[in-house]
Amino acid sequence: MRKIIVAIDGYSSCGKSTVAKQLAQYAGYTYVDTGAMYRAVALAVSRAGVAGDEKQIIALLPQIKISFIQTSNGQHVCLNGEDVESHIRTIEIGNMASQVAVIGEVRHFLVNQQQELGEAKGIVMDGRDIGTVVFPNAELKLFLTARPEVRAQRRLLELQEKGEHPVYEDVLHDVNDRDYRDTHRAESPLRQAQDAIVVDNSNMTKEEQMLQIQRLFDDCINRQ
Ligand code: C5P
Repeated sequence: MRKIIVAIDGYSSCGKSTVAKQLAQYAGYTYVDTGAMYRAVALAVSRAGVAGDEKQIIALLPQIKISFIQTSNGQHVCLNGEDVESHIRTIEIGNMASQVAVIGEVRHFLVNQQQELGEAKGIVMDGRDIGTVVFPNAELKLFLTARPEVRAQRRLLELQEKGEHPVYEDVLHDVNDRDYRDTHRAESPLRQAQDAIVVDNSNMTKEEQMLQIQRLFDDCINRQ
């Protein structure tokens, strides 16, 4: 059967990675979390102590090698061979990721690697610019969205499950801030590709959403 590329874009904390992982499993495809790649760059920047210094961040890029490994806990991202999954999922690194993501050179550096990962197709990739920049010819493009308050509540629960004690208003503020930065940056701002199918999951259960997305995938495969 012909393999396709599935591009999943959308705002932060709207469940993109859960959907992408499940769809990849359903389809027998490879899953690529591009947010983790931006987060890994942010971690490298933070460790090198060059946050906020665009020139030094760009100079650091050739020393950054990003890869993925499969573990019993799912896919983990590696920075120069070190599994850094447990270091990149914090609010701080998320914010720093959205700051390094406004730098054109950082985007080119990662977009090239993402395009190579998709050369053989059979891939589900999630991010902010997958359907618009990385794979403008992807056969199936989904744009996930949910109301900011719903996303903040979900994010709050996730952080609480990790043992953190964030305040709802701070999380909502962070969600709105990130939305603003992601949609207003000059380089590849987050926007819906013209041919993307919008899935607003504010009032859907995970199961309802997954069924809808599996149907969209099956329809797309049948059209190939
Ligand atoms: O998806 P995640 O929250 O892990 O992404 C972290 C940040 O990386 C996002 O807020 C966004 O600024 C940036 N990003 C991006 N383009 C992508 C994926 C993530 O700009 N394709």
